[in-house]
Amino acid sequence: MGRRQNRDEEVGIYIHVPFCSAICNYCNFNRGLLDGDLKARYVDAVVLDIRRQGDGVPADTIYFGGGTPSLLEPDEIARLIQACRDAYAIAPDAEITLEMNPETATPERLRGFRGAGITRLSMGVQSFRDEELQRLGRIHSAARAREAVQIARSAGFDNISLDLMMWLPQQTVAQWLTSVDALIAVAPDHASLYILELYPNAPLKEDMARGGWSQAPDDDAAEMYLQGLARLDAAGYTQYEISNVARPGRSSRHNLKYWRDGEWMAFGCGAHGTRHGRRWRNVTGTEDYIQRVASQQDTVSEIRVLSEQERLEEALFTGLRLTAGLPVREIDAAFRVDVWERYGAALQRFVSAGILERSPEVLRLTREGMLLANEVCSVFV
Ligand code: SF4
Repeated sequence: MGRRQNRDEEVGIYIHVPFCSAICNYCNFNRGLLDGDLKARYVDAVVLDIRRQGDGVPADTIYFGGGTPSLLEPDEIARLIQACRDAYAIAPDAEITLEMNPETATPERLRGFRGAGITRLSMGVQSFRDEELQRLGRIHSAARAREAVQIARSAGFDNISLDLMMWLPQQTVAQWLTSVDALIAVAPDHASLYILELYPNAPLKEDMARGGWSQAPDDDAAEMYLQGLARLDAAGYTQYEISNVARPGRSSRHNLKYWRDGEWMAFGCGAHGTRHGRRWRNVTGTEDYIQRVASQQDTVSEIRVLSEQERLEEALFTGLRLTAGLPVREIDAAFRVDVWERYGAALQRFVSAGILERSPEVLRLTREGMLLANEVCSVFV
């Protein structure tokens, strides 16, 4: 079995919270509308599952993802964190992230989350232009997002990430850049920039047809990415992954486990985990998950042992997402391969085109190359 690139790293803990106040028309995540009774029973089930599965190993990140985890009450978050502390050796300086939507931000809740132990907020802003937010079915406004950041700062959060989405229906390059500038003006510590992906049956597709909305040409999407990142560079952020930039010391420690062959536990419905060369996914249904925990059945719906080749492929294409690039010598040694000998013939055209840089130690995508990451990575599979 191939070894982990970061063998000595502590594990991460992912906790899925599948509830939202409204369903956005582009969303393909595992979520449903908030139901107070279901939420209370779900939190009890996740607490029990964490306590049962915990094996006391060191962990240095906890990540509440969703859905909208900020719909949980601070005392529910506190119980979940306490269950992690009881079941794992949580590092004193652990990064504990809560994904939140701006509409859920109140001073009382945010002070409560801080008191519960949350150290980092990841806020789904998506756009600082109200008409774009409305087209996406989002229920907050740009003003509410700005206010949420202020409330979070006042509550003591010094590690705040904001998500923005580009290539939205009807969005021009200039309009996208107004959102980037607005983000820079509220000065988060970290930002994630995603390109909108329209999955096949997304209700947004129907809304677009009805409204006569379209996405800008592909070349404009590339401009959005490159110009948006250039503005963030100029504002003092450093890109460390295809979609992520951060102030010094503020890269997401949890998400880096996904890209550096790390290991993480997964609790809650639909959550994915990976440990000891195994990859698993929990059952997706909220009620199904609760019932399985209550009746002491396995909550896992799929589990796979990754082959040596699969682990190598994954190390290659997740590592290429990072601006630091692939540590080729380390990978060669770990997997007993010569990466360049095996893939060099197919990769050479990307090197010649200037989108992949090669040194004896590192293979890395240039920023323009990051736009073609899928094409480059297709060489590995
Ligand atoms: S808030 Fe997030 S998880 Fe919930 S429906 Fe919207 S995009 Fe999906």
